[in-house]
Amino acid sequence: MNAAERVRSSRPEAKPGTPRKRILTGIRPTGPLHLGHYAGALENWLELQHEYDCYFLIADYQVSDHANDLARVRNAVWEVTLDWLAIGLDPEKASFVIESGVPEHAELTTWLAWFLPVGMLERNPTLKAEMEAIQAPDDAATKGRSVPVAFYIYPVMQVANILLPRAHLVPVGVDQLPHVELARETARRFNREFKPIFPEPEALVGRVPRLVGTDGEAKMSKSRGNTIDLKDSAATVAKKVRAMYAGPPRGAKEPGLVEANPVFGYLDAFDNDDAEVSDLKERYEHHGVSNVELKDRLTRVLNELLEPMRQRRAQYEGNMARVSEALEQGTGRARAIARETMEMVRDALDLDYLRKYR
Ligand code: ATP
Ligand code: MG
Repeated sequence: MNAAERVRSSRPEAKPGTPRKRILTGIRPTGPLHLGHYAGALENWLELQHEYDCYFLIADYQVSDHANDLARVRNAVWEVTLDWLAIGLDPEKASFVIESGVPEHAELTTWLAWFLPVGMLERNPTLKAEMEAIQAPDDAATKGRSVPVAFYIYPVMQVANILLPRAHLVPVGVDQLPHVELARETARRFNREFKPIFPEPEALVGRVPRLVGTDGEAKMSKSRGNTIDLKDSAATVAKKVRAMYAGPPRGAKEPGLVEANPVFGYLDAFDNDDAEVSDLKERYEHHGVSNVELKDRLTRVLNELLEPMRQRRAQYEGNMARVSEALEQGTGRARAIARETMEMVRDALDLDYLRKYR
């Protein structure tokens, strides 16, 4: 089953007149988006925007690890929005939301923090790995800084992100699964102990759960500088692919192990010609294929995928007022639902103190 079919099979029956189920998912404004985002998340969003009421969040509360470079964060808000428009997300169909533009996120984060034990954060494997990366003294990007309190609680913010629009489905990369699990547990607990407000959100992992970096590292990531960006020019893509890690050193005519060469991982992810790719793998394992041949093919495949995105991006770059309007409209729509949810939360937690003696 390909990505589109998998999404379709998980779609609810479209009953006319019934409100659509909601999706919440997001991205941190830390830089331009890359192929890992596309294969791990964005490609799903493109399909889902037609069926669900989608809220795509730019998580600008969740970048405290970049507090030393606010200019980058503020600029990345535009980069991310342009990338979304470039891949074909439609701001009329889906809502593009700036997290801090809906301050109810912060309010709900505080209330939910009451009900999440510290141990749950301590055991969260994604958070653990990311905190270690921030603290690692040899990490050039972060230079062994201490972890901000806001970074430690970002999984709680994510729970609030998901619960605030009362989302049913959360399409994410595999690294985000522990956070969605936290949202499910929080929803169950809140519903049981107070009032049944929140649907128990389901995670939906994309076609490529974790795309490796161009350096062969386990994850392509904005923070690691091992990305091929959606906005990269054809020449930059060619250059990055040429420099890509392609497994242990090997002569051009020497057979190699497909699993040891990440170029094949990329071909699996982005080359639609399955028959030719399996033929290439066969030749690689039995007779040897040069990395140059593999990389030339990958460059062509990637540039075919990215070219229409580049063109759409350029059009929007020429009309930044439209880009800004997309954010304003989406954030406004999200805020209306957020207010509705917070009314329910205030009622469930009995927060309307002043009514008592009125
Ligand atoms: P940062 O390094 O700044 O955290 P990031 O590249 O991890 O950036 P996020 O904004 O944290 O990007 O993640 C956005 C979404 O994209 C998440 O759902 C995440 O799981 C998914 N994602 C990010 N990188 C990859 C990847 N290499 N493969 C698959 N999915 C990915
Ligand atoms: Mg991340």
